[in-house]
Amino acid sequence: MSDYLIIGGGINGLLLTRELATAGADVILIDKGEFGREASWAGGGIVSPLYPWRYKPAITALASWAQTFYPQLAAELIEESGIDPELQVSGLLMLAAEEAKVALRWAFHNKRNMEKVDASYLYRKESELAPRFESALWMPDVANVRNPKLIKALVHSLDKQANVGLKSHTELVGLCCRENRIIGSKLRSGPQETQLRADKVVICAGAWSAGVLRELSVSLKIEPVKGQMLLFKFAKQPISSILLHAGRYLIPRKDGHMLVGSTLEYCGFDKSPTAAAKQSLLESAYEILPMLRRHEPVAQWSGLRPAAPEGIPFIGKLEDFENLYVNAGQFRNGLVLAPASARLLADELLGRTPILDPRPYQPGALSREVLSV
Ligand SMILES: Cc1cc2nc3c(=O)[nH]c(=O)nc-3n(C[C@H](O)[C@H](O)[C@H](O)COP(=O)(O)OP(=O)(O)OC[C@H]3O[C@@H](n4cnc5c(N)ncnc54)[C@H](O)[C@@H]3O)c2cc1C
Repeated sequence: MSDYLIIGGGINGLLLTRELATAGADVILIDKGEFGREASWAGGGIVSPLYPWRYKPAITALASWAQTFYPQLAAELIEESGIDPELQVSGLLMLAAEEAKVALRWAFHNKRNMEKVDASYLYRKESELAPRFESALWMPDVANVRNPKLIKALVHSLDKQANVGLKSHTELVGLCCRENRIIGSKLRSGPQETQLRADKVVICAGAWSAGVLRELSVSLKIEPVKGQMLLFKFAKQPISSILLHAGRYLIPRKDGHMLVGSTLEYCGFDKSPTAAAKQSLLESAYEILPMLRRHEPVAQWSGLRPAAPEGIPFIGKLEDFENLYVNAGQFRNGLVLAPASARLLADELLGRTPILDPRPYQPGALSREVLSV
């Protein structure tokens, strides 16, 4: 019997596996498809919430811890796997600084580097920018990470560890419960069904987490929210920072790729890319960077964000069970929040002092409502 069975190998499942395995536990991580091919692959990899002052302190707390930790994580993964997740401090320019007052106050209170910059600064920095912006909010410390490479590095590193079992194409299809303990998990791999016993089970199934738990009559408010993205490729990268305007953004990668994101669509588990989203993303992108009109995107994709209310993830033990836990619901910020989410849950599982006050994230707890205001 292994110590932990983790369901879902996106960024949250992978990082939790890493935390537990590093502490010496035996961990089995399963995914119904390939590891990290859902939201964690589809995301933009901005290592910050967009408009961070609009979020509750519970999000800021996780994001702040994770942003400080990301450089160490990237360096460790390069060392362990030889794969560079391309963490790049590109900075974030929020064009048309409409909420400057409240944003700057938030930055001051949370010790974040943010300033209001004028047009001359803007056009010196980003010469291809559409010529209509008078000011922006500039956060020079914001990074972006190439999330598919981050996933690859994590899988590579975990694969080498003797106390980790990675099982892709293995779906959790049932949980056997006696009194309030999970005593077995039914797994399906191709035509084969097996039972697996683990001391503790953790659901990290992203947008599918609520469905997985429904069979135990656990109701968790997580719904899928589709996001579509476009990709451009240039011989020479035309922008140096992440550019955000009216909720849409452009992300520069080191090798000349540029991502354009993203839509927010409430349409269930349908993941198909659409022509309407492509058109809408293109129009937003042209408003920021007119030179894009002369280029064609090289790819379009979509993913399903796991949306908990206000994007505050559920992290912790499920109230009515002795050995069933969850780490899901990070919504638009799963990549930035993941290192802190994993560490916080590992602290609970291993009986360590938590990095943060865990109460705002506890599933079902009254404190969640009270403490996340
Ligand atoms: C277009 C887009 C842009 C985004 N941009 C950013 C950004 O710039 N910055 C940021 O921080 N976040 C961003 N996000 C959000 C971020 O990608 C997600 O919040 C995060 O990836 C969620 O990770 P996860 O591990 O919880 O879920 P997922 O990556 O979806 O992983 C869940 C895994 O569980 C598996 N699974 C489900 N059910 C079962 C089962 N029954 N048995 C076994 N396995 C199962 C799935 O196959 C999947 O691999 C973006 C998301 C999208 C879609």
